[in-house]
Amino acid sequence: MRFCLKSALVFAILIDLSSASAQVSPARSESIVVFAPHPDDEVIGCAGIIMQALARGARVKVVDITSGDGFDAAAAGLTHKKVAEVGPDDYFALSRLRQTQSRNALEILGGKADDLIVLGYPDGDLGNLYDSTDDKVIRQQFTKKNETYALIQKDYHTSVHGKPAPYRRSSVLGDLVELLTVLQPTEIYVTDETDGHVDHRTAFWFVRDAAQQVGYKGAVYTYLVHGLPAWPFPPGVTPNRPFESRKVDGEVAPRGLPWPPPRHVPLTPEQAQRKLESIQAHNIQVVGMPDHQNEMESFVKSEEVFWTPLTPSR
Ligand SMILES: [Zn+2]
Repeated sequence: MRFCLKSALVFAILIDLSSASAQVSPARSESIVVFAPHPDDEVIGCAGIIMQALARGARVKVVDITSGDGFDAAAAGLTHKKVAEVGPDDYFALSRLRQTQSRNALEILGGKADDLIVLGYPDGDLGNLYDSTDDKVIRQQFTKKNETYALIQKDYHTSVHGKPAPYRRSSVLGDLVELLTVLQPTEIYVTDETDGHVDHRTAFWFVRDAAQQVGYKGAVYTYLVHGLPAWPFPPGVTPNRPFESRKVDGEVAPRGLPWPPPRHVPLTPEQAQRKLESIQAHNIQVVGMPDHQNEMESFVKSEEVFWTPLTPSR
């Protein structure tokens, strides 16, 4: 484990882990960490969890594992180019926008923009990193970067270690192990391993491995974004209705998960409205993708649902 005490102390200061605030009330010992593969996943899956935890006085950190800098259609729309014409600077512009959106969304939910931690690993390449048994450094095809970076705030590794981390498997795991050690979460939220997006599945595997490495004893909940073969139901903004399972082409969706989900967290109409606003803070309609936006807003329901991947029954 590449964790060193000095780094922990530096980071503890950065994240304002004062012992005084920890003693204010029992709720202060509640520490929630939401891991998002891309900026926006945290509000799609966990906006309600985040706002309710903050209202209770819990400490909440959102960890964006990538900057969302591998979304070619969005980069093209943002910079008014054809997909075939976009280059690294266009992906950096997208990365800057999406990071800003995550910070704004966190404020809408009652948090502080600086409660966002950006790891800055490559969007679209988490699966390649996880599968890299020889721990080789990967260069992201879109940005051409081969080390962590962030443009609105410092990436986590640079902020704590003074230099970026190379894009390799051990770097991701090392950063996650450090974060779990320092933040001492009581609850972890991460995308589910049945998700249709490889970055989302891999985010789960990386977080699971890091949790095992540190002997994490808290709760782990997963949320679903790209459920297969289709998700969520019912479509559209329906703040008065719960999530539903449906048959799609003879197959029960979402695939591979128990239904009903083991955990339902009700949202008041006001909370559902704020969730909608936090999702709209990630609006990329400016780049001409209304369908994508509508799909995101369909996660506004009367509840949020979670699965418990580490229980033997699943
Ligand atoms: Zn995502």
